[in-house]
Amino acid sequence: MSPARTHAVLVIGAGFAGLGTAIRLRQAGVEDVVVLERGWEVGGTWRDNTYPGAACDIPSVLYSYSFAPNPDWSRAYSGSAEILRYIRHLVEEFELRPLIRFGADVSELRFDDATGTWTASTRDGRAFTARAAVMAPGPLANASLPDIRGLASYTGHVVHSARWDHDYDFTDKHVAVIGTGASAVQIIPELVGTARRVKVFQRTPGWVLPRPDFGHPDWLRTVFRHSRLSQRAARLAWFAGHEVLALGLVWDTVFTSAVQAAAKVNLRVQVRDSWMRRQLTPDFRAGCKRMLMTSDYYPALQADNCKLITWPIATLSPGGIRTADGIEHQVDAIVFATGFDVCKTGTPFPVTGLDGRRLDEEWAGGARAYKSVSVAGYPNLFLTFGPNSGPGHNSALVYMESQIDYAVQGVRLILDRDLRLLDARPERQERFNAEIQRRLGATTWNSGCRSWYLTENGTNATMYPGFATQYAHQLRTLDAADYRLAPGLTVPAREVGGHNDAGSGARDSVHECEIGRASAATRP
Ligand code: NAP
Repeated sequence: MSPARTHAVLVIGAGFAGLGTAIRLRQAGVEDVVVLERGWEVGGTWRDNTYPGAACDIPSVLYSYSFAPNPDWSRAYSGSAEILRYIRHLVEEFELRPLIRFGADVSELRFDDATGTWTASTRDGRAFTARAAVMAPGPLANASLPDIRGLASYTGHVVHSARWDHDYDFTDKHVAVIGTGASAVQIIPELVGTARRVKVFQRTPGWVLPRPDFGHPDWLRTVFRHSRLSQRAARLAWFAGHEVLALGLVWDTVFTSAVQAAAKVNLRVQVRDSWMRRQLTPDFRAGCKRMLMTSDYYPALQADNCKLITWPIATLSPGGIRTADGIEHQVDAIVFATGFDVCKTGTPFPVTGLDGRRLDEEWAGGARAYKSVSVAGYPNLFLTFGPNSGPGHNSALVYMESQIDYAVQGVRLILDRDLRLLDARPERQERFNAEIQRRLGATTWNSGCRSWYLTENGTNATMYPGFATQYAHQLRTLDAADYRLAPGLTVPAREVGGHNDAGSGARDSVHECEIGRASAATRP
């Protein structure tokens, strides 16, 4: 099916990142933006994660866009429903709904060397073409149901944390929870409050610190509403506090030991039983896996109707879970709080770049990009939460804003200079990645635990080894010298959707004509 016309930009995903990209593009004068969303509502992970207790472990003042502050957060750490309301508010406030194509599940993204355009095909047979594409499918979009032996034989109810079944009533039920990560520690206290009995199957205990949550009093909201400066100050204070945490959570330092000591004090204060404390004491460095921020998890584990099981799961059976000690745990329902399939070595759908090269093939040994946003050989394409862009200590939204604003600079450069290709220089990408991997060696993530940050062979293609401030700084200005540029369009300008004359923020050091047209575009 041939696409109707060539848009300025395709954005894939209508979660936080995709919507933020659309807003910033429009603020930069790029109006012809199409957002492709596979679901039927916006919100991404916050639309999907509706499990009881779902909340963000980063304060809302910081877990929101600086260009769209919300004075009305009800508490320091808002729940998922309130975050989703904020996302929907963005859609209305910035009039994004007309840009979004719902039910557009992208099955392929392909670059046309001759025209310098990207075409996204969707599973329902539609095709959308644009001068530039921004990938914003979210790193945590696909729920992971682990391949546990006997799973198919289990006859009870199965629920995944990221696809909660609100029609199933847990009241009075015997429930098993598999997993003790960031999602599980939020779900378990809620289930303990409703179910008859909850058995928690722990494979690896995590480091836990209390979450300093509090309701925002009316006066604070009034102050926020009347003074943007006060909101900015609050955001800055939370930001600075989290930056300090990097000293212990990102790098394996004496501060890491201090974080562990604090978590051990928390464990001792909250858990009475010494055997249980041993069961809950991690054997890896704090920060290696995501720090768990919760004040009600340990109390829930000690409730009369809750039991912590640390024997490995041997198999699922028709009636429940059999552990390695031979005990059969009969349960009405199993909650899989087992995380997500994260694309560390592939792409969520085939992405074909210059000369027919495939991104999943190139990333088979671990994903790599230039500054996490561009990939050599895939011109005019920008990634949000691309390789090595993840935070371990600060708000994902801070990282996301930097990626978006960098991508917007790239888009402006393409449109303003009528470029066919804006392609990251492979040698700069190589140098950048060598440096990232060198720096990762000193981080807690590479200190020896198993986590979703690492590939099977231990490569860390997920996290950024530094402060959020450093990450944002390197993305502040898109330097055209980092890219190979090719001018000229086969697409007639009048076919391309409108953009106004707002200036590009990209640094003006353009070296054009370094890539030949069409077939002359070669692999680096
Ligand atoms: P996760 O951190 O990957 O945790 C999955 C849990 O399931 C782990 O305890 C894991 O054990 C266990 N597990 C996986 N496969 C298993 C198996 N076959 N048998 C037994 N146990 C198994 O997933 P998540 O808790 O959903 O969190 C994922 C990410 O989502 C977080 O890192 C965070 O970035 C994000 N998140 C954020 C928030 C927030 O408040 N901002 C809340 C929830 C989630 P092992 O540790 O032994 O692998």
